Amino acid sequence: MKRDCIFCQIIAGEAPADILYRDEEIIVFPDIQPQAPKHLLIVTVAHITSVAEIGAGDLQLIGRLILVAKQMAEREEIAQSGYRLTINSGLEAGQVVPHLHLHLLGGRRLSYQMG
Ligand code: AMP
Ligand code: ZN
Repeated sequence: MKRDCIFCQIIAGEAPADILYRDEEIIVFPDIQPQAPKHLLIVTVAHITSVAEIGAGDLQLIGRLILVAKQMAEREEIAQSGYRLTINSGLEAGQVVPHLHLHLLGGRRLSYQMG
């Protein structure tokens, strides 16, 4: 745990969040500033700062992030209508929380702004 990291604080129960899913490796809660009707964050329990820090030893974890995102999309009933998974990595991508997470966005027709 990194003490000044907001996601680490949520994982430790020291900051509030509506935890929708949790296991030993992954936690899911809603984004505090939703960009779509459904906007969840799929977050690693381990403090990994970004994709830049991922190594070959993390392959299973990264695969599970996507699998949990898919299951959450089903649970939120947006699996049929469609959804977007996004990972921002670093400054120019607009990453603001340096703790690895996947955005799950859906619930309406999303605009096509990929860059
Ligand atoms: P990014 O680092 O750009 O991929 O996105 C970080 C996301 O975390 C933003 O969409 C924020 O709205 C969200 N966020 C920041 N603080 C919190 C919090 N305390 N609870 C839930 N979401 C948060
Ligand atoms: Zn952290």
